[in-house]
Amino acid sequence: MTKVGIFGSGQLARMMALAVRPFGIEVICAGNKNDCASDVATVVEVDMSCEKSINNFLDKVDYATFETENIETEHLLNKENIYPPVSVLHIGQNRLNEKKYFNGNNMVTAPYKAVNSLQDLQNAVSEIGIPCILKTCCGGYDGKGQFVLKDSSYIEDAWNELGDQGQLILEGFVDFDYEVSLIGVRARDGQKLFYPLTENVHIDGILHTSTVPSKAQNLQIQTEEYMGNFLDKLNYVGVMTIEFFVKTNKNGIAERIIANEMAPRVHNSGHWTIDGATSSQFENHIRAVAGLPLGDVSYNKSVMVNCIGSMPDLQKTLKLPNIKYHSYQKEPRSKRKVGHINLVGEQTISQNLDKILGIIK
Ligand code: ATP
Ligand code: MG
Repeated sequence: MTKVGIFGSGQLARMMALAVRPFGIEVICAGNKNDCASDVATVVEVDMSCEKSINNFLDKVDYATFETENIETEHLLNKENIYPPVSVLHIGQNRLNEKKYFNGNNMVTAPYKAVNSLQDLQNAVSEIGIPCILKTCCGGYDGKGQFVLKDSSYIEDAWNELGDQGQLILEGFVDFDYEVSLIGVRARDGQKLFYPLTENVHIDGILHTSTVPSKAQNLQIQTEEYMGNFLDKLNYVGVMTIEFFVKTNKNGIAERIIANEMAPRVHNSGHWTIDGATSSQFENHIRAVAGLPLGDVSYNKSVMVNCIGSMPDLQKTLKLPNIKYHSYQKEPRSKRKVGHINLVGEQTISQNLDKILGIIK
């Protein structure tokens, strides 16, 4: 039986394990036994600062991958059968590296400056202008570690809030019309497949809904070219996601894209693929990692609604026909992603989306 190791044991690892269970692939996670992957996969504790502990884990599996870019990589470099290449994590781990890499690959980003002191912040604000957004370079997710500066009186507050959280980046605030993400997968033989651009709505910095197809279908080829070059250059294996801001022209047609960030892994904006695509992002990631042929990415019109804080009542939700209910079995907690609901097909969406949004609110 093929065994795949995953560094991390949260919901992304859980969904990868569930996706490949029908293949008879066993998933073993390096993580925390209390995390939500533990009821569908074996979870072992690994000390990421100890090479021996990592080697013990890698000896148990045929291939290994990640559910997060925020892991210690010192003892992972130069190890075999880890996909995507560990060096790619260093790009996604740090917003400054990420932006430099995007710009070096012809992708437009928001203007940005590195910030390491209050003086840097003052200089960066006068250079970039208001509004702007101060972010921690590493470790942020779901809008955490960010401070929006609406005018220059916010400078001190922003510094007081984030000044002690390591390296910072000031970004110009992009006046976008909407956000999309592209999810692609590359196999070891270089084959690449892309899901359709997904349109994402965030509330308070946390992903709320993802919809396919997006209004930016005319940008599909251009964004695939960006990511395709990127994947080939990195000799990437597995799923990658890039988030973009979209600007429209006066007729409402998507015209320009600005790259926001990349994730060298499966992504929340791809959760619709579990029910809306022939092969999900989770299945395709593990197919690529395990050297299997990639699965078809044909799709149906779909909407994913994130459940934040707590899951809606199962009895009430399942009364709506064709609703796909995904609970990660996590303890309810404010602002925590605990599950999602997928709606697939025009009719299901038109009949149930408003009701679901009403139940979840
Ligand atoms: P996630 O984990 O959900 O991807 P994150 O914490 O890594 O989020 P970002 O993706 O950088 O952080 O920011 C979260 C959201 O905040 C973006 O999707 C966007 O809505 C908004 N945002 C971030 N940066 C900018 C910017 N420079 N201009 C305008 N809006 C922004
Ligand atoms: Mg983001």
